[in-house]
Amino acid sequence: MEIIETASKMQAWRKEVDAVAFVPTMGNLHAGHLALVKRAKATGAQVVVSIFVNPLQFGEDEDLDQYPRTLAQDLAQLGALGVGAVFVPTVEELYPNGLESVQTLVNPPTHLIDDLCGRSRPGHFEGVATVVSKFFNIIQPNYALFGEKDYQQLKVIEQMVEDLNYPIEILSAPIIREESGLARSSRNHYLTPQEKEASTLLYQTLKGVEEKILAGERNYQDLEEEAKAKLAAAGWKVDYLTVRVAENLNVATDEQELILLAAATLGETRLLDNIRITL
Ligand code: AMP
Repeated sequence: MEIIETASKMQAWRKEVDAVAFVPTMGNLHAGHLALVKRAKATGAQVVVSIFVNPLQFGEDEDLDQYPRTLAQDLAQLGALGVGAVFVPTVEELYPNGLESVQTLVNPPTHLIDDLCGRSRPGHFEGVATVVSKFFNIIQPNYALFGEKDYQQLKVIEQMVEDLNYPIEILSAPIIREESGLARSSRNHYLTPQEKEASTLLYQTLKGVEEKILAGERNYQDLEEEAKAKLAAAGWKVDYLTVRVAENLNVATDEQELILLAAATLGETRLLDNIRITL
């Protein structure tokens, strides 16, 4: 497994292999990331994983400095999975002109990013789309893999690939959870033991809404309000909890393929979760 720190070395490595399946990550790898790597491996292509905590996608008051960085452990896990190369650029390597200076940014369409996570994290999806676009240009993958855990991100990337004519097939993989139901996330490390126990309420609440929808309830707004109140009563700060059309994230009316999405903060930790619902 090659460990590559510069864009020029990554490009040189790329020239020597046929097909590439690319898995972008911010490291601190867990079972959710490893499932994406296995899915990448199943394409038969050489797998490239990037580990890069991208400052461009963090807001000023967010957890950029705190974000867990565990490179040695990450590399050990990837080595065992038969990954071809790990791209671990420094911030200076990817943003040689600095983050503050004028640079080209990828701006995803506003209807996709002024909503849900983008509403409370202005600039986040521009940062994500810009860094993923840079990785796509450096690595030139045939496939790129994204988790459904970050469903809005998946939609933003699919749209970018379509709009900017990237010859890349986007593959996604379902959410990997802990036994308790909590979606795996590097940010789960921020939870205290008590919060970790309490955190299962998010998934339980979503499951409760799903059950009611599958049982025939169609007043989504009432279901959303009820679920938000339940979380708020347990001390959560709910950012959003909403039933959307799975394909395009529009507000759901009578569609068959839905997605129930939530973001909520427990203590200091913002958690995301979602459930796909097929009527
Ligand atoms: P991150 O390192 O958090 O930026 O995530 C890198 C990739 O792993 C993204 O495509 C995420 O959607 C995906 N991912 C993170 N957590 C999970 C999970 N629990 N299940 C599936 N995919 C995940």
